[in-house]
Amino acid sequence: METNMSELDVLQHSSVVSTSFQQEADKQENILRPKMLCDFQGQQRLKDNLAVFVQAARGRGEPLDHTFLIGPPGLGKTTLATIIANEMGAEIRMTSAPALDKPKDLAGILTNVTEGSVFFIDEIHRLKPALEEMLYIAMEDFEIDWVIGQGPAARTMRIPLPKFTLIGATTKAGSVSSPLSSRFGITAHIEFYNEKELAQIIERSAHIMDIEIAKPAIVQLAKCSRGTPRIANRLLKRLRDFAAVMGDGKITTEIVNHGLERLGIDTKGLETQDRNILRTIIEFYDGGPVGAETLCISVGEAIESLEDFYEPYLIQKGYLKRTPRGRMTTKKAYDLLGIPCKRNMDEDQGILF
Ligand code: ADP
Repeated sequence: METNMSELDVLQHSSVVSTSFQQEADKQENILRPKMLCDFQGQQRLKDNLAVFVQAARGRGEPLDHTFLIGPPGLGKTTLATIIANEMGAEIRMTSAPALDKPKDLAGILTNVTEGSVFFIDEIHRLKPALEEMLYIAMEDFEIDWVIGQGPAARTMRIPLPKFTLIGATTKAGSVSSPLSSRFGITAHIEFYNEKELAQIIERSAHIMDIEIAKPAIVQLAKCSRGTPRIANRLLKRLRDFAAVMGDGKITTEIVNHGLERLGIDTKGLETQDRNILRTIIEFYDGGPVGAETLCISVGEAIESLEDFYEPYLIQKGYLKRTPRGRMTTKKAYDLLGIPCKRNMDEDQGILF
């Protein structure tokens, strides 16, 4: 028993989790992070459903079911996890799958969660298989199997865990194994935001940061924010700089035009690298198909950035499509770049995968 306790002690002092890692990572982002569902703009259906699930769980005096948040970066997965914890009146612990190296890292956190608390794992698609298996049992039975000792003397001890809510977030739902994804009772897809919702987010952030911005400038900025609150907030901060240095401190439409042009962002919200990706496919690969890895080498981009950041928006806006044979541009991409399209793109329709 003594050995067990000391092993548990070690687990519980594991340092891979930090309840404050977001604060450390980006204090400013945290200031802008909505705290409750009513402050979270857009995603109406998702919010309405979550409000029901939270209220019902609270009514039963139980933790919320395990929740799976899916969506491209910057759309509010971490924010929603903290909101769920706040709405449940629960403590939250946060980590990211790449930070969990060994089973003891995960066991250390799981044996440390408190009854009813929320445990958030970001990038859950990057969890190692051995850790994933430990998580299955923890999610389903609120227990973990822990092996004590080595060799023939080794034995497995079942450690009971308090009932908690796991919130897993991913940008790549397709990379999460079905045994893991099927153990989440609630699955929420977070979609890109429309311009009206982004305008509300910008207005709220400007108010919090005490930035003066004209209404037409908000509308224009919303159009160029790639449907992504994190980008809207980031651009707002940069335009504040342009307004301070080149104007009188107020963000006007002129400041937005000037600033976005200097940042290489066009009126559709596409960045230099977005256009570079489209141009490369058209000019080097005759519009595609081209494999993702070849494309990444051509544009000097990491595959994760291509798949997680650039592609989702280009696909959603209809400039790019994924086919079994690789990435292809659409006629819309040719039109955007002002390049005459000689191919009949209708005949090239690939099956989306
Ligand atoms: P993700 O975890 O999906 O990458 P985050 O939750 O970190 O995204 O969100 C990035 C930033 O965008 C947050 O700091 C927050 O201020 C803002 N944000 C995201 N979603 C919303 C929303 N629905 N309403 C208001 N602000 C939001």
